[in-house]
Amino acid sequence: MTRDGLTDLSLARAVVDRDALRRTDEDWLRQAWASPRTRVVRVHDGRVAVTGEPPRLDLDEHPDVAEDRRFFLGTDEDAAYFAAVVDAEEDEATFQGLRSVGAVLGARDAGLVVHAVSLANWHATHTHCPRCGGPTTPRAAGHVRRCARDASEHYPRTDPAVIMSVVDADDRLLLGRQSSWSAGRFSTLAGFVEPGESLEAAVRREVHEEVGITIGEVRYLGSQPWPFPSSLMLGFRAEAASTEVTLHDGEIAEARWFTRPGILEAIRSGELGVAPTISIARRLIEHWYGGELPTNTD
Ligand SMILES: [Zn+2]
Repeated sequence: MTRDGLTDLSLARAVVDRDALRRTDEDWLRQAWASPRTRVVRVHDGRVAVTGEPPRLDLDEHPDVAEDRRFFLGTDEDAAYFAAVVDAEEDEATFQGLRSVGAVLGARDAGLVVHAVSLANWHATHTHCPRCGGPTTPRAAGHVRRCARDASEHYPRTDPAVIMSVVDADDRLLLGRQSSWSAGRFSTLAGFVEPGESLEAAVRREVHEEVGITIGEVRYLGSQPWPFPSSLMLGFRAEAASTEVTLHDGEIAEARWFTRPGILEAIRSGELGVAPTISIARRLIEHWYGGELPTNTD
């Protein structure tokens, strides 16, 4: 970890070349799908087929699925990679969600899974045209949907969300507990970017809405996709210009300032549970702390 930014985020490790120019090369795609060297990420309901313990991605089965249920993910020197949306009842594999396997997968597989699950989530919820209500069908190997009625094209959605470590002049970190969370669970504040808003403005607005604190300088630290179902988490460090917490919108039930010794003690005693390793929230907290913190929630 560097003090400059966030590196090696679990779900931001992309090593496969997305090879976007191949998406419209029908002949190449057909041959690639038929090749025994091709590897397929099987997806069902936001989960992926895994094998072994600890689980690794099960890429060996080549499912028999229709063309509109398979999406091209990219290539590397070994193989071409596709995602296929399968029926979990017919497929005998074990399916697991990204939250449980994301941190144990290698870099190649983590990148494939995030791409595959994000696309599958989008296809599952965008079956009709937002302009005319007509049915849409996949194009460009799963990276576009086209309306059968008015021929409009629609692209996969990514919803930007800001997430920030709020730090005061005494170098304390502010963490909040959402109303729906259990007593000891705290995390960094976060929220979706609104239409027409810059990322920096979203950071300042969210912090003020949730805890009433005014933010000065805002610094970007890194991002990672969070396909639950389609977010992109953009991580920031936000300098607090005030320290008095006023809970405004009901989303946050409690917010507390932590010193470095204080957070360590609270985690060790079990009083505080911080987010799992896979999350950018934890990485923001550790970026402020200056090293890894003990784990009690993974
Ligand atoms: Zn339409």
